Amino acid sequence: MIPFSDFKPKKIEYKAIKTSKKIIVIDPGHGGKDPGGIGWNRVKEKNIVLPIGKYLRDILRKKGYKVYLTRDRDKFITLRNRTKFANRKKADLFISIHCNIAPKHPEVYGIETYFLSPARSKRAERVAKLENSAIGNLQTSTQKIVLNFLNKTKIIQSQKMAIDIQKNLIYGFRKHYKNIKDGGVRPAPFWVLVGTQMPAILIETGFISNKMEAKRLSDKIYQKRYAEYIANGIESYFFKFSILVFKSFILWVLYFLANSSLVIPTVNFPKEDANFNNSLCPLCKISNVPPTTTFFMAITYPYFAEIYKIHLID
Ligand SMILES: [Zn+2]
Repeated sequence: MIPFSDFKPKKIEYKAIKTSKKIIVIDPGHGGKDPGGIGWNRVKEKNIVLPIGKYLRDILRKKGYKVYLTRDRDKFITLRNRTKFANRKKADLFISIHCNIAPKHPEVYGIETYFLSPARSKRAERVAKLENSAIGNLQTSTQKIVLNFLNKTKIIQSQKMAIDIQKNLIYGFRKHYKNIKDGGVRPAPFWVLVGTQMPAILIETGFISNKMEAKRLSDKIYQKRYAEYIANGIESYFFKFSILVFKSFILWVLYFLANSSLVIPTVNFPKEDANFNNSLCPLCKISNVPPTTTFFMAITYPYFAEIYKIHLID
C-alpha cells in the first residue's frame, strides 16, 4: 500500500502529449443478468460503474483520445470478451471499473486501485474472488500457470498507471469531501485483466455496502468527479511515459556519441597522472573537443552517469 497524503500533482502542460494516437478501452464491470455487488438500499454495482465509464469516455474524447467502452448500456458481457475487445482495438490502456462490497462489515469503505499480478494478499484475493466469479470454474492449477507467464513489463506499467490514478483520485476527492479513505494500490489476480495485451488496471470505486459511499457513488456529481480524476491520472501516466521515452532517446544519443571517436577524440593522459585515470568518464576526455559537444555532454551528464556508473574526478 502506498500512502498518498503528501501528494500534490504538478501543473503539467498536457498539450505536449500527442493524445490523438492513444487508444483507451474503458470497461464498466458486470451488466445485464449480472448486477455485480448489491449494496446499501439495493444499490447495484452495474448501475454505478456504467455512468462513471460514460463520463470518463466523454472527458477523454474531449482531450483527444480514442476511447471505446466494452458496454455502453445494461448488457451482459463475459470477461473474456471484454479483454478480446480491448486487444482487437489495439488499446494502449485498459481500465475496468467496479464497486466493492463487504456485506458483513458495512462500516468498511475506501477507494482501491488494482493491477494484475500473481502476487496476492488475503484482502486482494477476497476482492479478486468477487470480481472473478463471472469466469466460472477455472482450475486452480491453470490459474497458476497463466499467472506465472505474465509479462513483467506490462505489470510494471500497470502498477505505475494504478499509482497515478489512485493518487489523483485521493487528491481530487479530498478537496471536496471529508472521509475519503485511501485504500491504496494493490496487486491482484483479476481475470478480466489477464488476457489483455496492454497495461491494465481495475478500480474499486468504493464500497456500496457502506451507506456513505453508496450514497456518494449514486450521486451524478460524484460520478463526474470520479471520471475527471481518473482522466487526470491517465494524463499523468502518459506524460511520465513520454518523459521516459525522451530520456531513453537522450541515452541512446549519448551512447552513440561516447562510442564515436569522430565526436569525442580519445585523449591519452599519462597513466601516472592520478587525476586522469583514463576511465570511462567522458568529461575527463573532452579537453580538446568542440565547445558544443562539451556543453551537450555537461547537461546530459547525469543520465550518462546513471547508466555507466561513472563519476567526475575531484
Ligand atoms: Zn465488480
